[in-house]
Amino acid sequence: MSKNILEVKDLVVDYGIIRALKGIDINVKEGSIVAILGANGAGKTTTIRTINGVVKAASGDILFDGESIKNMSPNRLASKGIIQSPEGRLILRGLTVEENLLVGAYSVKSEKVEVKDDDGNIIETKRKSARKIKKETLEEIYSYFPILKERRKQQASTLSGGEQQMLAIGRALMSRPKLLLLDEPSLGLAPLIVKDIFEIIQKIRERGNTILIVEQNAYQTLKIADYVYVLEIGKVKTEGTAEDLMKDDQLISAYLGEQK
Ligand code: ATP
Repeated sequence: MSKNILEVKDLVVDYGIIRALKGIDINVKEGSIVAILGANGAGKTTTIRTINGVVKAASGDILFDGESIKNMSPNRLASKGIIQSPEGRLILRGLTVEENLLVGAYSVKSEKVEVKDDDGNIIETKRKSARKIKKETLEEIYSYFPILKERRKQQASTLSGGEQQMLAIGRALMSRPKLLLLDEPSLGLAPLIVKDIFEIIQKIRERGNTILIVEQNAYQTLKIADYVYVLEIGKVKTEGTAEDLMKDDQLISAYLGEQK
């Protein structure tokens, strides 16, 4: 069983006199996709923004790898490997696609790599340069998003909405996050592009990444998520595996609408 990399415990968040989160618990296992669904105003964005340090918690706790990260700044959280995308689709419009991706990798450092024999014994320890890691990560991202490779020399401002969304996710991945927070990656995109984005999110997980995703598009999200929390006015209304939630007709009609 993999461990919980993120544990949200009895989290309460207030905006002045409005209590947006009324004590929620969320666990994210390493290597999984966990989704937060719910109607408008349920508290989805507030949850992700509190985990990412943009909104302050009133009480409760947030543990990352066993350590409390509650109310740490987004920069400190980024250095621990927690990265949110998109942050309001903040791509650097005057830079090329590849320059935008490399900006995401600014904090990547050289790494120790162990070379093992067939029996798993370490035979050598080497250092991989930051430059090499960045190059490999860039190639990995181009394999998820071939269109970004085609457009790599093009100014980011000339990309379509869907391509900009891909660039924002790609840039977040360039920092090699331990936990990727995705806030409505399908927002404003055409259905075919939404399908592409969700397929890519699944591929990203298959390579060992952990993802917490907040979405309005419940149908697509349930297809890729391992575990799902449904929020209703600041509380967890229900939770379970995506498979179980899919079978719950009442839930589907009440919260998930008619989306396909
Ligand atoms: P949506 O899908 O519409 O974005 P959501 O589930 O992400 O909804 P939140 O944006 O987290 O919901 O909002 C939760 C509650 O907190 C709502 O009642 C909202 O009106 C309120 N709220 C959110 N941001 C603020 C703010 N900056 N100031 C005051 N109230 C806020």
